[in-house]
Amino acid sequence: MPFSAGHLMRALRIYVTGMVQGVGFRPFVRRIAKIADVKGYVRNLGGGEVEIVIESEDDRVSEFLRLLRSKHPPPAKLEVVRIEELEPAGFQDFMILDSGSERVMASEIPQDIAACDHCLEEVVSPASRWYRYPFNSCAWCGPRYSMIYRPPYDRENTAMRDFPLCGECLSEYNDLWNERRYHAQGISCPRCGPKLFLLDRNLERVEVDDPLSEAARLIDEGMIVAVKGIGGYHIACLASDDDVVSELRKRKRRPRRPFAIMALNLEVASKLVEIPDDLIELLSGFIRPIIILPRREGCPVSDYVAPSLRSLGIMLAYTPLHYLLLMETRDKFLVMTSGNVHGDPMISDDSRLRELTSIVDYILTHNRRIVHRVDDSVVRPTHGGLVILRYGRGYAPRILKLGHNLRRPVIAFGGDLETNGAVGFDDKIILAPYSGDMDNPKVLEEHISNLEFLAECYGLKERKPIIAADLHPAYHSRKAAEKYASGNGLELRLVQHHLAHFASVMAEMGHDPEEPAVGIMIDGAGYGLDGAIWGGEILTWADGAFKRAGFLDYSLMPGGDLAAIRPVRMLASILSKFMDLDEVELFIRKRGLLRGLKHGAKELNAVLSQIRQRRGPMTSSTGRFLDSVSALLNLCFERTYEGEPAIMLEEASHGGEPIIESLDNFISDRGGALIIMTGEIMRALVENLDNNSRHDLAYTAQYVLGECLGLAAAEKARELGVKTICISGGAAVNRIILSAIERASGLRIRANEAIPPGDGGTAVGQVYAAGYLEAD
Ligand SMILES: [Zn+2]
Ligand SMILES: [Zn+2]
Repeated sequence: MPFSAGHLMRALRIYVTGMVQGVGFRPFVRRIAKIADVKGYVRNLGGGEVEIVIESEDDRVSEFLRLLRSKHPPPAKLEVVRIEELEPAGFQDFMILDSGSERVMASEIPQDIAACDHCLEEVVSPASRWYRYPFNSCAWCGPRYSMIYRPPYDRENTAMRDFPLCGECLSEYNDLWNERRYHAQGISCPRCGPKLFLLDRNLERVEVDDPLSEAARLIDEGMIVAVKGIGGYHIACLASDDDVVSELRKRKRRPRRPFAIMALNLEVASKLVEIPDDLIELLSGFIRPIIILPRREGCPVSDYVAPSLRSLGIMLAYTPLHYLLLMETRDKFLVMTSGNVHGDPMISDDSRLRELTSIVDYILTHNRRIVHRVDDSVVRPTHGGLVILRYGRGYAPRILKLGHNLRRPVIAFGGDLETNGAVGFDDKIILAPYSGDMDNPKVLEEHISNLEFLAECYGLKERKPIIAADLHPAYHSRKAAEKYASGNGLELRLVQHHLAHFASVMAEMGHDPEEPAVGIMIDGAGYGLDGAIWGGEILTWADGAFKRAGFLDYSLMPGGDLAAIRPVRMLASILSKFMDLDEVELFIRKRGLLRGLKHGAKELNAVLSQIRQRRGPMTSSTGRFLDSVSALLNLCFERTYEGEPAIMLEEASHGGEPIIESLDNFISDRGGALIIMTGEIMRALVENLDNNSRHDLAYTAQYVLGECLGLAAAEKARELGVKTICISGGAAVNRIILSAIERASGLRIRANEAIPPGDGGTAVGQVYAAGYLEAD
């Protein structure tokens, strides 16, 4: 019936992609269809997109399109809208069609969404039936990935299936015009939803009327309290009290690594840190990660929260539970750090709760199951924008689109420390949420089950995926991948660590793997093709293969891993490139650097003899070079957490300026490979040591290194006709190095934006590389 009453009938098929599943998008489409008076249907499609078919008179169809473009639910993001004209089919109504009849394959698994303003407002309004209800959520917000057993995101597939809706909730669920609760899978109320409990250190229930107020009161008294959130347990305590924070450090055996702060709202946060306007949306929006921002003058947070740092990691309350708890504490901000025991993953499983009792005095818990552990995401500003340090809550498991199709699906096991896994198929890569350190068997086990969950959701197991892992023979992740591949009769591909970093940027850029590319990897450590430890690499990609086009001059790591823990060892090694060993010894003693060696003179002798006998691995690591400068400038003598000496060096550069202009002698051509002469850079720093400020010297070391890398990479880029330089690696967060590369190369630089540049992102590069290369 193409014509009716003289009006032109029109039918359209519309494809919408972006964040459109798990955010109340289909109910919204049905509502606007009713308002515009169009017929047809809406349904989720395989690749995370939504298909809408509408038909009506021309002006009705236009009205629908106008509403679609102007009104969508707050967390939804419409990224692409493709429209096709159709022949009208004579629909009688507008329906939400089940996606269930198709294979579940490739339906997007929604990310956890921070509480929306409406939900928070309800929990503080005495007249609302959600007043003081810690689990309030709606179609626009609430836990998603952390509570999903299997897609699609329907209540019976989530941890909310244990809480049948009461009559009132059910009628709201069925009311098309109830925007926030119609078909919202996670809703509940004080009558039908989860309940809070307070436990003491013996895991005995503390009988109180209001566990939440009692927990707030205990925290104000200086107690350390575990709080069950949506993706795991946090440990909360006063952030303004030195004694409380020191006690937490002692119990957690964590001497200096910074703790995150959670603030009630933007107003409280802005008294603690300086918040640039362009970060307000991220800090207070639907992702609400921890953002590392400069402390404000007079900030009341204890110095023990982030020792020797000018910045604080801060997030805003992202569930009603956190919000209500913070509201009742005196400060309205608290330390809110991962609830884990030294070296272990954050606890998300109540059966492991006893482990936390060595750290906390009380536990505020509830009876909703956490299906997937999800850590808080961490981001920081750097040169040119933001960088993701930890990819977890709010980001994972997002779909990243490639610019090409993978030849085969891939399951990638990632790196070994602070890492994530990934899966890829067709033109999509999904980076799993942060797993952690693979030397911990509990983490490794969770890592594999996360990957299996994603592989299952996207139906990869039947498609003979390639298993990808790092080349490093000692990596636990590689061993696990080998076992997984042989156990399942799958092919294993090993990807060199820095190729994986490089490819992670190419994946993000949608780079066509048939085209050449040039990259700079500024990193801590990765196993190189020659068995050395790589980490300061200029790589090229052409004709489906990568080449090492330049690198930092090799240095010995005296004593192996100890040289990464005590940077003075690395310094001695680099000094020995231009001093004899007696001079090195004298220099270390005269400059008071013996303090940086745990066993003083005895250790120094051992280090010198290791250098003399060339005992230890060789490395081109950027991290180890930065460490050695950090030691030279008396900034950091012991690494107590990943990247600490380099972070101290970057901190110390604040307000510094470059003092070395000539880069002569710093780059040397060795058979076509461009070598950055770290010994020569160190020599120049030592020569300037006495007549310059520490700020300037710290700044210069990083700046000059960046300039050398930028110049060398630009030369390779010219040879290949490439206009952009990809940058990745654990040190690719350093704003001084990034800005120097950009300036010296004169080319556009592209670092990771959507995924971490550190080992959290290598799995994405493993998918890209393994899924492109043909099988051997
Ligand atoms: Zn909400
Ligand atoms: Zn209810």
